[in-house]
Amino acid sequence: MHKFSFLLLVFSISFHTLFSQTAQHFPYKNSKLSAEERIKDLMGRMTLEEKAGQLNQLNGGIFTGPALENPGQKAKMQLVREGRVGSFLNVSGVAETKAIQKIAVEGSRLGIPLLFALDVIHGYKTIFPIPLAEACSWDLKGIEKNASIAAKEASAAGLHWTFAPMCDISNDIRWGRVMEGAGEDPWYGGLVAAARVKGFQGNLNDESHILACVKHFAGYGAVESGREYNQTDFSHVALWNKYLPPYKAALDAGAATVMNGFNVLDGVPVSANAYLVTDILKKKWKFNGLLVSDWASFEEMIDWGHAENKKDAVMKAINAGSMVDMQSRTLITYLPELVTEGKVSIEKVDDAVKRLLQIKFQLGLFDAPYKFSNEEREINELFTSSDANREVARDAAKKSIVLLKNDNNVLPIPKMIKNIAVIGPLAVSKEDMFDFWVAKGDNRLAVPIASGIAGMVDTKGYSFKFNFSNGYHLNGKINDTLINQALASCANAGIICVNIGLSGNLAGEDRSLSSPEIPENQVALLKALQKTGKPIVAIVSSGRPLILTKIEPLVSAILQTWILGSETGNAVADVLSGDYNPSGKTVMTFPYSAGQIPIYYNHFNTGRPIGKSDGSWRSRYRDVPNEPLYPFGYGLSYTTFAYSSFKLSSPTTIKGGVITASITVTNSGKYEGEEVSQLYIQDVAASIVRPVKELKGFQKFALKPGESKTLQFSISDKELSFFDGDGNTKLEEGKFKVYIGTDSKNVQVLDLELK
Ligand code: BGC
Repeated sequence: MHKFSFLLLVFSISFHTLFSQTAQHFPYKNSKLSAEERIKDLMGRMTLEEKAGQLNQLNGGIFTGPALENPGQKAKMQLVREGRVGSFLNVSGVAETKAIQKIAVEGSRLGIPLLFALDVIHGYKTIFPIPLAEACSWDLKGIEKNASIAAKEASAAGLHWTFAPMCDISNDIRWGRVMEGAGEDPWYGGLVAAARVKGFQGNLNDESHILACVKHFAGYGAVESGREYNQTDFSHVALWNKYLPPYKAALDAGAATVMNGFNVLDGVPVSANAYLVTDILKKKWKFNGLLVSDWASFEEMIDWGHAENKKDAVMKAINAGSMVDMQSRTLITYLPELVTEGKVSIEKVDDAVKRLLQIKFQLGLFDAPYKFSNEEREINELFTSSDANREVARDAAKKSIVLLKNDNNVLPIPKMIKNIAVIGPLAVSKEDMFDFWVAKGDNRLAVPIASGIAGMVDTKGYSFKFNFSNGYHLNGKINDTLINQALASCANAGIICVNIGLSGNLAGEDRSLSSPEIPENQVALLKALQKTGKPIVAIVSSGRPLILTKIEPLVSAILQTWILGSETGNAVADVLSGDYNPSGKTVMTFPYSAGQIPIYYNHFNTGRPIGKSDGSWRSRYRDVPNEPLYPFGYGLSYTTFAYSSFKLSSPTTIKGGVITASITVTNSGKYEGEEVSQLYIQDVAASIVRPVKELKGFQKFALKPGESKTLQFSISDKELSFFDGDGNTKLEEGKFKVYIGTDSKNVQVLDLELK
């Protein structure tokens, strides 16, 4: 026998013997047993400190919250050796995750593998559009695909867990975190959240997927006056109908984990809110996954005024049903003594630990702890080596763009154009193309808007000259020199593209703005440019809808380009050139003025709505209209769509019945294009007042010029019912209105009665 084969045989025999002995003595290491048997055995061996340790999540690297007292790397690894850490956040990369995992698996008493988590919000290396933008594509398959690529890349870098999707409904563009959500509609928000969960998790049975985390449970999007971490105060009817549906949809899609929010419900911080955590999440929804706190949210209950000290905070959180403590190390300090003192039951602790271990077994980490930390995959599957991922990011980015205005069809830019002026520092700034939540995205590899436009000459058959100038400073005052330079740069321009908006760093957590307007220096620039009489295209970069009322009259076209990620410039060029006919529709209302905020399409009618008469004593402003600048669901195309033959299969329906609403949509313009047709329903009179309209269906489809399509939407109990404040479904007989149209405002209407 060859010497090497002999050695291999000896090695495998001894490994086998060792393994069977290990498996015999430590059943939890025996892969032939069921997860339940292994968990039972393991939990029987764990000390109280080790159980608490599993519920402790340490921060490994960058800070995504206040930098509280932070132990050094040595101290953290010592905690791992002592079995007092169950997971890490903000650690990634094969080398780092493998090294830490080795300490847990080989250096701690029981060798329990760790979970590694990171906020992979819209991509890991390949950066996709921010979730708010992506939601404007109404392309659920595409959204799922983007999440699956993010998962593939993240898992190739040793990660098991992302803290996404954020399912918080918000009506307030002052809140910087609207960029992480899917806009203002609870039903659509649920569809998007479910698609993202499916993309991240797949079936969780291979190492290309990661755990999703539904956050921030619950109602965090309602922060008062849009100010980050502020209090929330809303009715239980709003909780059930507005805030909870997206979390529920994400859980129904199989999300394995949930994160507490930073807010309060009924004056109780949500981390210690037993109604939310135990009654709704665990009992009513039968969630059997893991709940993690938000960054130090247990101990923040002291500042809220709900806990006297850290120990009290841990007691309240765990007794309410919360489980893992992110970052603060408060739980490992106090949980063992709280159990010994009988203040927290061991059953509560065991339940949480069991859920965590179940996930670790489900991922196969006990048998292959390094399976996610694979050097080869890390090299081959990340953005830098994958043009395929870039292509998907470009597709997502172009579909996320919303065309808000296009007077005289100035877009798409005609091929014979000889000279284009591109203005604005945002157009060349790679930093501003990314927000804070870009995981390991490298903005040096991203394509800025100016490069995308310049590239139209080589890639899209244009032969224009291209002039760039700044025109304004980001965060600066009105600057006449820059304005004059910009004016000079467009002396020969046939069209002027001005990239306005906010720096990328102003999107996300801790980025609240009291008045999300276009800055004055940018307005001044546009006023000066307008005097040239040339067509101006405003390309708006922002992580939220901004108030565009001042600039709207100054420009011919407005392209809302959000924060689009790695392929920004190419996607913008695809739309400007008409290679891609824009199809995005906004999922958040664009207010007319800051004073209207919160403003949203699915509001109540009030007892004195305007429109009923022109007289006084109506629910209205004296200084601005009630209407927003652009309503929910709005977005133009380079073509036009005409709606006709709206019908209901019957004007009446019964409980348990299904009727069909149909409408014909015709492409009445010159370009092939995609339309997103929207179905809304209004319950005209109900025991609990219902909104003026609620989105209950949509269809996205492409039509060639002159082509028509007849759409059919089913309407059944699901579309006609709502929740009361206790979470009971109500389906009430009476009158309804059914609306179909191109956005939430431009609709046709028919009456329906539920008998
Ligand atoms: C955020 C969470 C995030 C966590 C970890 C917190 O500040 O609110 O959304 O997942 O940090 O980075």
